[in-house]
Amino acid sequence: MKLCRFNEDRLGVVVDGAIRDITDVQTEIRANARYDMKGDAVIASLPEWRSRMEEAAESAEPIDVASVDLLPPIARPCKTMAAPVNYEAHVAEMAAQPHVTGEDKGAQRPSGIQNQGIFLKANSAVVGPSEGVAIRFPDRRNDHEVEFVIIVGKEGSRIKREDAMDYVAGYTLGLDMTVRGIEDRSFRKSCDGYAPVGPWMVTADEIPDPGNVPFTVHLNGNLQQDAHTKDLIFDVPRLIEFASEFYTIYPGDYLFTGSPPGVSEVHPGDVMRCNCELIGEMEVVVREAE
Ligand code: MN
Repeated sequence: MKLCRFNEDRLGVVVDGAIRDITDVQTEIRANARYDMKGDAVIASLPEWRSRMEEAAESAEPIDVASVDLLPPIARPCKTMAAPVNYEAHVAEMAAQPHVTGEDKGAQRPSGIQNQGIFLKANSAVVGPSEGVAIRFPDRRNDHEVEFVIIVGKEGSRIKREDAMDYVAGYTLGLDMTVRGIEDRSFRKSCDGYAPVGPWMVTADEIPDPGNVPFTVHLNGNLQQDAHTKDLIFDVPRLIEFASEFYTIYPGDYLFTGSPPGVSEVHPGDVMRCNCELIGEMEVVVREAE
């Protein structure tokens, strides 16, 4: 099942390229959820409510995807985690450019996730495809990093690799937008809009092997990152295991799995088109911040 959020906080199921509005189900789920719960009520309720969502979708009128504003698929993520250097070829690409990473000014040399751990992006940086990315520092280098993104399905801590897939609700695509420089990652990568996700969430059953997922980003029509999750240093179950050693994970948490090679600069006016056959396509426009 493909679940999307659109327009004014509406929930939809994407069927054959059209959206079926099931906001009534969302309203009912939220009405029965505790306000102080950690995580997202709709994602937490998926196992119990999925069949009702599918029934509601069947009786709803199809809406053209192109006619709506797509929002991020999760209304209330508890946190947005991200793997920093999780493809060997991207580690090499960044290590070869000390003037870009800030290593020449004292920043840490990129050396791989096993040494550098996971970092957090502010939830306030998360946007949907329709919102676009506003460049706050046009005089600095701003890069796109297209990433395969895990959406956590249920609460867990110190999860073992062999149990990890039970904690995955689904997947989406993300852009880990980055201001290059020497500051901490969580600072440089958390500008407003620096975490576009979408176009929607695909439930885990539709991607039975997350280690076998090709995905791309085109910048202004040119293929810029051509990636495959088989090249991840820490694969999806290992990332769940690793993250949950440090954090309790909650339903609706995002986990960006890391950027493949091919990162490049973006400027106002650019268009980033992320595609994954198993998920869908999202187009994100870059503009200058006001
Ligand atoms: Mn990244």
